[in-house]
Amino acid sequence: MITEKIDRIQVQRVGTLINNAQRIAVISHISPDGDAMGSSHGLMHWLRSIGKTAQVILPNAAPDFLMWLPGVETTILYDKQPDEAAAWLNTADLIICTDFNEPKRIGALGELILSANATKVVIDHHLITDTAPVDYAAVLMSYPDSPSASELVYRLIRRLDGQINLDAAICIYTGMMTDTGNFSFNSNYPEMYEIVGHLVALGVDKDDIYNRVFNAWTADRMKLVGFCLNNKMRLYPDHHTALIYISGKELYKFHFKSGDSEGIVNMPLQIKDVYYSVFMREDKDKIKISMRSQGDRPVNVFCHEVFNGGGHKNASGGEHYGTLPEAVRLFLDNYEKYFIKS
Ligand code: 5GP
Ligand code: MN
Repeated sequence: MITEKIDRIQVQRVGTLINNAQRIAVISHISPDGDAMGSSHGLMHWLRSIGKTAQVILPNAAPDFLMWLPGVETTILYDKQPDEAAAWLNTADLIICTDFNEPKRIGALGELILSANATKVVIDHHLITDTAPVDYAAVLMSYPDSPSASELVYRLIRRLDGQINLDAAICIYTGMMTDTGNFSFNSNYPEMYEIVGHLVALGVDKDDIYNRVFNAWTADRMKLVGFCLNNKMRLYPDHHTALIYISGKELYKFHFKSGDSEGIVNMPLQIKDVYYSVFMREDKDKIKISMRSQGDRPVNVFCHEVFNGGGHKNASGGEHYGTLPEAVRLFLDNYEKYFIKS
């Protein structure tokens, strides 16, 4: 039952591609989160366990709270080792992309993937947008209603009659846990807990993983969150909406590091009657926008149409190439149109 979700023909085709390949590159998205790391490294551990030469290549590093995952020390980071990444991709037999489907979202590494001769497979749970062609993938395992790419990796391995070793299990569990907010959303179906049960039976210490991922903040990060909530949050009660935006200068005061603003966007949803939350952060070259919502209130359309982005119904993001005040203006001019009043 656990393994039913993915299509039989796709599983067979991916199985054949893996059997026929020796050098397999596994790629995930920029600023990798728990699911990007978990799905890519989980798959890598399994591929290595069946004798493949498997290599994870990422656009850039994951935040510190994921850098304990087994195998991360062997990852090639494109921003630090572009030549190694290119050499690997040019000699790969197979490239498997997990937790994303648009090569343009990973910049120059995406170009390398598109130009490599290797056959490409995508294992993902993001919506496919009309602006991002996915015809580069020989097999497109796209399941937008799956809570995590890590769960899809689990299902694929099981359907291929694969044995999951402890390192793979730890990675897969981490991705499932982080993409469901420690099983607090997109997590209402029994098979998920059968998978968790199996992973725990394999030796996964879920309490330890929770502590490593969620209780690993720096004091600066905690203070940044306090500042955002106390000084930067605006509420728009008629539309049940909260907005937090923060400039580069303000982030600098808190010695901002990648990952430090993770989760801030979710916090205003803890306020009674707030159903939409928007977070904007000024990065070096752009404004990064994150949106979250509760229930049947999509935020991906707003992200797609106004901020060049997309994502899931309740968790989306986008970018604005301009100033922070402009991005805030775009939000103020549009939220009444995209966010439901009731
Ligand atoms: P986050 O707010 O955590 O950065 O992103 C939440 C979700 O929104 C991601 O899982 C991804 O699906 C989507 N997302 C975030 N940023 C972008 C973007 O710039 N473009 C697209 N297409 N999706 C994004
Ligand atoms: Mn994911």
